[in-house]
Amino acid sequence: MREFKLYIDGQWVESGAGTIVDDLNPATGEVFARVHHASVEDVDRAIAAAQRASEQWGTSLPAEREKILMNAADLLEQRTSEFVDVLIDEAGATFGKAMAETSFVVNLLRSAAGEARRITGETMPSDSPGLISMSVRRPLGVIGGISPFNFPFLLAAKKVVLAIAAGNTFVLKPASDTAVIGLKIGELLGDAGLPAGVVNVVPGSGAAVGNQLVTDPRISMLTFTGSTEIGKQLAVEAAKTLKKITLELGGKSPIIVLDDADIAYAVDAACFGVFLNQGQVCMANSRIICEAGIFDEFCDRFTAKVATLKVGNPREHDTVIGPLIKPSQCRFLDSHVRDAVDKGAKLLTGGSSEGAFYAPTVLAGVTPDMVVYHEESFGPVVSIIAVQDHEEALTVANDTCYGLSSAVITNDLQKAMKLALGLEAGMVHVNGSSAYDEPHVPFGGIKDSGMGREGGRYSMEEMTEVKWLTIQMGQRHFPF
Ligand code: NAP
Repeated sequence: MREFKLYIDGQWVESGAGTIVDDLNPATGEVFARVHHASVEDVDRAIAAAQRASEQWGTSLPAEREKILMNAADLLEQRTSEFVDVLIDEAGATFGKAMAETSFVVNLLRSAAGEARRITGETMPSDSPGLISMSVRRPLGVIGGISPFNFPFLLAAKKVVLAIAAGNTFVLKPASDTAVIGLKIGELLGDAGLPAGVVNVVPGSGAAVGNQLVTDPRISMLTFTGSTEIGKQLAVEAAKTLKKITLELGGKSPIIVLDDADIAYAVDAACFGVFLNQGQVCMANSRIICEAGIFDEFCDRFTAKVATLKVGNPREHDTVIGPLIKPSQCRFLDSHVRDAVDKGAKLLTGGSSEGAFYAPTVLAGVTPDMVVYHEESFGPVVSIIAVQDHEEALTVANDTCYGLSSAVITNDLQKAMKLALGLEAGMVHVNGSSAYDEPHVPFGGIKDSGMGREGGRYSMEEMTEVKWLTIQMGQRHFPF
């Protein structure tokens, strides 16, 4: 049985409290690895190590940061199968999703290497004669990160890699269900030549380790990806010490299909957008909002396609739907489906489960009194909602507390732009899927989907502070 220790100050160390936890393979229910969980003292040492390392790392040359990040990208490319195996066995990722996630991180590392050279300030005019006025960007110091289980490599790496590219040091608490892939980020960066202490990884429960990260005054900023419920709690805690915080939270994203759409294309876009990673995607288009003129045909063709998606062993390359992170999630999804059906929704396909596997499920006739209309299912359950026109589509799309991603399928430019500008979401994809990301784009949401943006220069802005700096040429006249 493989055992993974904590990664603190460049060393693999045992849990101070002797806590070692089973990490399960969601597809088989078997123990995949045993993981050391950090005690209060371990987290304290990790923060202290990050603080010590920040003196040198904060003034390191961009060339040094660039070289290490490029090395890490090359190493990851060479070791792709090792990371893909962990994603399949620990997170229940299908082979295709694990490959895509790993290659995203390779691109992320390379694009972050470039960001290290592009942390710029500006000069500005001044009303004082002879005054040179400028802004410079400085790293924040130690950043704490808490990441979720669903894209456990990509989402944790985005935080860590962009933070260190900006000259910060990092303490990461990965999701307990996917702690190994979090630890392997530390291992990869260490192998690439990152100095000890710059990145530390401390698995442990959210309530314990997560809470310590948000309350410790040595941590300048907390970057969190996870549920809205926990994100709101962390925002309250962070406010007590005025700690900077960015939140990437839940979603109930819409895809709007207008009646001029190519239906086959719309079916493909909506299907990918909601069933990627068996629906465990914050950007999942779990609400398909379809104009009435094509509703019946869309439902028929969508349901026919969904019924062909292969559910099962995530290692088999043609599997689309792997296991949920744990079997208890199936009961949660069942409660959404049962509530909808009891209140009059039509179950077009799915609604069954075995172990941690939930069949891809399509509901039609979903109305606002049903739980699934509003709440994030975070699984392979989608609602198709009929609307009369694009204006009603916009009203229904915005009828949610969330505002993460969205998509519109139409070839009508006027309507596309009206919807794109009117959708209350941080991201809109016209003729695409709501589930989309790239390393350098402003990823993030509004409303209950969070605050702040992650990716490329947007992370550089979040993870540095602006300092105003002036130089007086000659002498200034003071009034007294
Ligand atoms: P979660 O339960 O909120 O957990 C996320 C992380 O927070 C985990 O590391 C968890 O640790 C930790 N945590 C739990 N309780 C905590 C506490 N009291 N204080 C500090 N940390 C705490 O979310 P999840 O189930 O892993 O992920 C699914 C959610 O994340 C969905 O709502 C999804 O939409 C959202 N998500 C958002 C994005 C985005 O970019 N907007 C991306 C992916 C996922 P433990 O694992 O130890 O509980």
